[in-house]
Amino acid sequence: MAVIFDIERSGMHDGPGIRTVVFFKGCPLRCRWCHNPESWDVQPQQLVYPEKCISCGGCAEGCYTGARTMCGADVSVQDVLKPILADKPYYGAEGGVTLTGGEPQLQADFALAVTEACRAHGIGVAIETSMAIYRPDLLAQMDLIMVDVKMWDDARHREYTGVGNAAILDNIRRADTLGVPMLIRTPVIPTVNDRVEEIAAIRDFVRTLKNAVGYELLPYHPFGLDKARAMGLDMPRFPEPTKEQMEQLKICAQL
Ligand code: SF4
Repeated sequence: MAVIFDIERSGMHDGPGIRTVVFFKGCPLRCRWCHNPESWDVQPQQLVYPEKCISCGGCAEGCYTGARTMCGADVSVQDVLKPILADKPYYGAEGGVTLTGGEPQLQADFALAVTEACRAHGIGVAIETSMAIYRPDLLAQMDLIMVDVKMWDDARHREYTGVGNAAILDNIRRADTLGVPMLIRTPVIPTVNDRVEEIAAIRDFVRTLKNAVGYELLPYHPFGLDKARAMGLDMPRFPEPTKEQMEQLKICAQL
């Protein structure tokens, strides 16, 4: 069993082709711009949206307006496999399953069991990971590893994500020995890591990796703010990068 908080069908943004995306609860990082802060705690939890509450008093029977929702549930491999097999006809040559979160490596034994079950049905699997945890037995089974290098400076990485990046960079170098294609990505957060020098330093690191198939920049979007509020968290709102700024940084990110 493992705790997951969503299964997205027909996903188009978490790897190549059409994908079923499995969201694992639990993450060792606390990125201040996180899209999925509801993933941080590995335990199921309640999210509260006071603006949706109509004071009907029916909380005990279940909230019909969505003002109170449970995030996360214990599931079995079979529970996860069911929608995956239903979606299989749509995957085509490129698509498949993406394990994401949160940090899927935190519940690696379950992630591995799901991966092996997918493999047995001829379905490819990719992972989105912070690489703060390193489980080579799981990573070696992937068709693609998508990993963020969020910023280059260790102290600033610690300030904005709660952990330094030395172990993360080391784990990426170790994963590079597994022979699995790796896509490196940086979320561009204005005022935090949107400098040309920062992107160039990460690009130079990516160039040293034998199995890197690309380096992508992802523009910040404040997707996580409503969910953070529902958890009682005060997350900052960063400015969004302009199109022009992204174009300029993308030139710098070319391998
Ligand atoms: S690693 Fe991902 S899931 Fe974890 S806090 Fe950072 S952005 Fe959120």
